[in-house]
Amino acid sequence: SRTNQKPVFTKAPAFGDKLAIVDTSGSYSYKQLYCSSLGLAGKISTALGCDFGGLEGKRVSFLCANDASYTVAQWAAWMSGGTAVPLYGKHPQSELEYIISDSQSSLLVAGHPYAETLKPLAQRLGLPCLALPPTSNLGTLDAADTQEKEISITDWADRPAMIIYTSGTTGRPKGVLHTHSSIQAMVQCLVSEWAWSRDDVILHTLPLHHVHGIVNKLLCPLWVGATCVMLPEFQPQKVWDMLLSSKAPMVNVFMAVPTIYSKLIQYYNQHFTQPHVKDFVKAVCKERIRLMVSGSAALPLPTLQRWEEITGHTLLERYGMTEIGMALSNPLKGPRIPGAVGLPLPGMEVRIVMNNTTNTTIVESNHRETQVRKGLEEKEGELLVRGPSVFKEYWNKPQETKEAFTDDGWFKTGDTAVHKDGVYWILGRTSVDIIKSGGYKISALEVERHLLVHPDIVDVAVIGAPDSTWGQKVTAVVQLKPGARMTLPELKSWAREHMTPYTIPTGLVLVDEMPKNQMGKVNKKALVQQFFP
Ligand code: ATP
Ligand code: MG
Repeated sequence: SRTNQKPVFTKAPAFGDKLAIVDTSGSYSYKQLYCSSLGLAGKISTALGCDFGGLEGKRVSFLCANDASYTVAQWAAWMSGGTAVPLYGKHPQSELEYIISDSQSSLLVAGHPYAETLKPLAQRLGLPCLALPPTSNLGTLDAADTQEKEISITDWADRPAMIIYTSGTTGRPKGVLHTHSSIQAMVQCLVSEWAWSRDDVILHTLPLHHVHGIVNKLLCPLWVGATCVMLPEFQPQKVWDMLLSSKAPMVNVFMAVPTIYSKLIQYYNQHFTQPHVKDFVKAVCKERIRLMVSGSAALPLPTLQRWEEITGHTLLERYGMTEIGMALSNPLKGPRIPGAVGLPLPGMEVRIVMNNTTNTTIVESNHRETQVRKGLEEKEGELLVRGPSVFKEYWNKPQETKEAFTDDGWFKTGDTAVHKDGVYWILGRTSVDIIKSGGYKISALEVERHLLVHPDIVDVAVIGAPDSTWGQKVTAVVQLKPGARMTLPELKSWAREHMTPYTIPTGLVLVDEMPKNQMGKVNKKALVQQFFP
């Protein structure tokens, strides 16, 4: 309902002394975060010469570590009436500058220790920059002169809340504008579907400039009064320590991208070799943890299976995008189908349309029912999405925004999908993952799924190499186990026993390490350019 479309912080006073965030600098209650945010919001308004809460339409870019300061900066941007634009500490200066300029931010907030990073940029761009104290001193922000201020904003729903930049997998990152209403739709959908409660404790290890880290792992727990334990960055040993620690607050929810699960598995394989340790790990994970989710990229089957062996948990795989939040998900309760992404979340509608000008609908589902068009069963096509969490626009890109939607308001995801066995399967990005070779359309994700079963293959990205005869050639970029060797004829003869003939790679490139971004994604356009310039 629209009364629930208030931002997360409006609930904070009611949660009072309940622990909101635990990070390496300390523990922070809801009340503390609220007061510090209010203080910072006052400073932001003053710096821009606006009335308190009067920043509507202005952007505030903020760069914070994965700790409590992130929430304070985000809430302060909202409390002051502005739009929050999260920056990422591992981005080079050029990328930070791109986002600050592209979003036309009016002010920068630098969490500790990022003042040094942002000040030169602020100076060059002529923007005010507020530096936050070290996280343990956030309390110094709740200055007396702003403490009494009431937040007078009431019309939250259609107000711009965030501009989140896409991963840039298929081009320059695009600014995706979400309103408070679309953000809250994401939050409330996941809170109900994954049964978030104030007793939950989530371990947060993901970057905070994408929906996965921002919404699924931070705003959801904060909406229900749960606790978020934040690590500055992902380290396998730290994560295992936290998952297994019996020190309060004990973690019971975990979410990550597939590469993180595979790194945790590698660590486990190397370090947890004794039977009693293995038993301990499994017992703790089974008894204490209620939910483990994977998303942002396709989850390889061997990862899912090994994780299940180790922890007793079948990872819950879901599908989402910066532009739409989460759209499809395997169920919290009930069977999770390996390799599939389940059915629409509450409020979301999805459709697969044929890849031609008529846009014939093959299948359409909402949370409750699915309609398949007779004669088109199991046909692949483009996935379209509609629902309350779909973004408002690409920031400053009216043409791109227009092209991203059909005339009747469906968002075109650019992903190819199929509906089979009663659920949805993602075949990959139409522009890079659907390889057109000799009249066939081959899903790179499916080929990757098969190749990952090979005992010597640690990681693989399948790309379409340009080819004058076939159009494109299925080419496997492979990272092997240390010490392993592989030739193309060897790979082909193995593949003949496991794969449909026309999907077997006809090209092989070996790499020492798969190039991936912080969200565990491979930029396939860049790979094609690198190896087939
Ligand atoms: P850009 O839009 O800048 O090219 P991007 O699409 O990678 O980058 P995101 O919005 O972060 O940016 O990622 C969304 C994409 O991630 C989806 O369109 C889809 O291709 C992929 N994805 C997300 N979850 C899954 C999943 N469970 N299985 C397969 N692919 C997934
Ligand atoms: Mg995208």
